Amino acid sequence: MQRLLGELKTIIEHEWALTGPFVPLPEVHSEARTAIPEARTGYERQNDHPDMNPRELFGRPSSTGIDGSPSPYDRIQALIPPSSPLVSMTSLEEVEAFVRKNMLIPLDESRTNPVFGVGDPNADLMVIGEAPGADEDARGEPFVGRAGQLLTQILGAIDFAREDVYIANILKSRPPNNRNPMAAEVAAHVPILYKQIALIRPKLILCVGKTSGTTLLNQKTSLKALRQKFHDFHGLQMLVTYHPAALLRNPAWKRPTWEDVQLLRRRYDELVRMAA
Ligand code: URA
Repeated sequence: MQRLLGELKTIIEHEWALTGPFVPLPEVHSEARTAIPEARTGYERQNDHPDMNPRELFGRPSSTGIDGSPSPYDRIQALIPPSSPLVSMTSLEEVEAFVRKNMLIPLDESRTNPVFGVGDPNADLMVIGEAPGADEDARGEPFVGRAGQLLTQILGAIDFAREDVYIANILKSRPPNNRNPMAAEVAAHVPILYKQIALIRPKLILCVGKTSGTTLLNQKTSLKALRQKFHDFHGLQMLVTYHPAALLRNPAWKRPTWEDVQLLRRRYDELVRMAA
């Protein structure tokens, strides 16, 4: 009983942190809870199975599957244009120096600072947003403005410290007046994000907002259609939820976001359990 009361208290505290008081605890649809990506490669099947290669399940996965299929990280690295200097880079520091030095698009010339990414370089969870805003441009760090503070709160509500995860954006430079990224800007910058994913090797990706979700999944669809299920991002599991800036504009979306991040936490814990 004591333990049950303790667990209930934790749930209520998390709910409070994210949605404010007096919001009834949401139900998570069982269908969504069990949804898994389709079209699984040998690599993915191998990494599903706790007996197959346990040390590599949640640590640094092997580079090929049991049938020789490439790992998600190899597949994501292969998305980088072969002529790009990013291809041969071997560390995040090297990539960051490249971003700092090179003006790939006009936005790189107008920025105050590049906003490369922040967090644990070995994180199992990567959070991906759209593009830096004014606060991020001034500080050179993603998600530090009001939306960023809410993101930190959302992560905290599912027991992740900001430092436990890696946070990055599709664009590394601020678009003027926070306009949506243009296709040419995305095309120039997204290989940097691919390289970050290939080097960090996360197990799970959380996309916040429609732009990051639809860009990475290469789908033209609504955010609603993307939510509440794990997508297959070249063999990595990816969840898409509302952007924290959208939650500031429309607090009614906090509750669905809470449902999404609970799903994320549950999947993360399943992967941890499998690796133990
Ligand atoms: N919005 C984003 O998508 N990224 C940031 O870093 C800040 C706001």
